[in-house]
Amino acid sequence: MDRRTFVKISGAVAAQSAVLSVWEAAAQSPPAEPAQSLINPFTQQGQWFKAALHVHTTTSDGDVDVPTRLAQYRAAGYQVVAVTDHWKTNDLSGCSDDQFLCISGMEAHPRTGTGAPTHHFVCLNLPHPFELARDLPAQALIDQVINAGGKVIYAHPYWTAHSLEEMTEVSGYVGIEVFNAVCQLACNKGHNSVHWDQLLNKGRIVAGVATDDVHATGQINLGWTMIKAPSLDTNAVLNAIESGCFYSSCGPIIEDCRIEEGTIRVVTSPVRQISFFFDGAAGGHVVRAGAGQTLTTAQWNFGNRQPKCRWIRVEVVDQDDKYAWTNPMR
Ligand SMILES: [Zn+2]
Ligand SMILES: [Zn+2]
Repeated sequence: MDRRTFVKISGAVAAQSAVLSVWEAAAQSPPAEPAQSLINPFTQQGQWFKAALHVHTTTSDGDVDVPTRLAQYRAAGYQVVAVTDHWKTNDLSGCSDDQFLCISGMEAHPRTGTGAPTHHFVCLNLPHPFELARDLPAQALIDQVINAGGKVIYAHPYWTAHSLEEMTEVSGYVGIEVFNAVCQLACNKGHNSVHWDQLLNKGRIVAGVATDDVHATGQINLGWTMIKAPSLDTNAVLNAIESGCFYSSCGPIIEDCRIEEGTIRVVTSPVRQISFFFDGAAGGHVVRAGAGQTLTTAQWNFGNRQPKCRWIRVEVVDQDDKYAWTNPMR
């Protein structure tokens, strides 16, 4: 496992900014509706597995073949790699072992109904060979993937110029890319947290994954997903992905995050900022370290305001501007 040593910085000051007045506005939000809940990995038993869930090879437009790509991720400390070439699956038989799980997948690009650029769906756990007709309507394509035992992640909506309209014309996907490294490198459109929150506000409680979307070798290990699962096998890992039993990162480690008695607490590697996001107007609370300092924990007491919160998620940023995200919880 590639978890960095957790170093507590003594003397770090959590600059507790007083932003509680946001609640006056948040209290005007529409009544809370029951929402699907994700599983908090920090309250679950299991092991952490570092995962790359969006990966290309020379089977489509990547720069190295499957064995080379898998070796790169293995060397980088990953335990899970999903190979997701454009429209093509790969034969991954014999690639997995007790320490390393390979998942056959595909990235598919059905048309949108709005005339916007095509959807990009990262499809996980497809048998090989597996074919999807390129003229399938988007929802039919998702349904075929699900019927084949697969899971779908909505990829990089910012880069694809997608809005809530495109994201909600289909259903059945279990997550959205909150971060895509290649989109960030290409045009600074790798962050999709606003898109994610829009889905959450519509009652679509989906998880957020960070990915490399690696095409060239230098794009490895820029965004990953830390999955908590009881074992390193495809079913356990897919169940964890679907249920949101993971967090995502570009660097920071989230050590713990849980809600107890009206307070959400998070413990991280040293970071410069910890944000709590929730639904509703002005739905956020941020804790910043003092100048030149870091913090490793923050908490926010929302007390009896909890019924107003349909979801809460945490986002941290370190001093290198690397992010990490928990999934929404409540
Ligand atoms: Zn794509
Ligand atoms: Zn891709």
